[in-house]
Formats: sequence, structure tokens, C-alpha cells
Amino acid sequence: MDIKDSQKKIKEFDKARGWDDMWNFKDLLLNITEETGEAWNLVKWVDDEKQREIVKENKEEVSDFIGDTMFLLLKLANQTDVDANQALEDTLKEYEKRMPPEKMKEVGHANKLAGGIDDKENGSNKSQ
Ligand SMILES: [Mg+2]
Repeated sequence: MDIKDSQKKIKEFDKARGWDDMWNFKDLLLNITEETGEAWNLVKWVDDEKQREIVKENKEEVSDFIGDTMFLLLKLANQTDVDANQALEDTLKEYEKRMPPEKMKEVGHANKLAGGIDDKENGSNKSQ
């Protein structure tokens, strides 16, 4: 199932339950934040290496987070009449333009292009 099919299926899911015009933009954003908070609880306050370990050990919860969040994003796309597949293609085109591979290999992390510094040697990431 691709993004277009998923978006259509979620529209049908909502319509079958009479939820197609029962929505609130802010509440959907809060739902997405809640899902992010659930995932964040897995890895908060641990370093990069420990995060990778936790993610491997909690693959099912990570998968649930991705599924739940994609469901909410596609629901948001339906309710705002946005073609999610096109939105993602537009974003990828923009990122390809802003972060060309040859430039990124030179600077490393995208934060450096945005004016920030990635000070991993001193144990922190910070913006200037
Ligand atoms: Mg969840």
C-alpha cells in the first residue's frame, strides 16, 4: 500500500464511522505530539549509543509510533484536503535542492548549513 492508497483508506475508515467531518486541526496536532511523547519516553536522557540499543530492543513500540503517527498525518492531510504523496514529493525535492549530497559530505550535519554547530566532541549540540 503506497501513500495515496493509505490516505484513501483512512478517508474511507473515517467516513464509515461518520468521522469525516468531525475533526479539529489542533486536536490532531496534539495527538501527533502525544505519540511523539510516547516514543520520547523510550529514549529520553540517554546518549546516542543507548538510544540505538533501546530502539532495537523496542522495535514493536517504534513500529506502533510510526504507524500511529502516519495515520494521524494522513488523517490531517484528508481533513485539510492536502495530497500527502505530493506534499512528501515536494519536501524531498526541496531537501535535495537545499542539501545536495556533495555539499553535505563536505559539511556533515545539516545544522551547519542552518548556522548551528554540532559540537559532539564536547558532548552537546547547540545553535549559535
Ligand atoms: Mg501510540
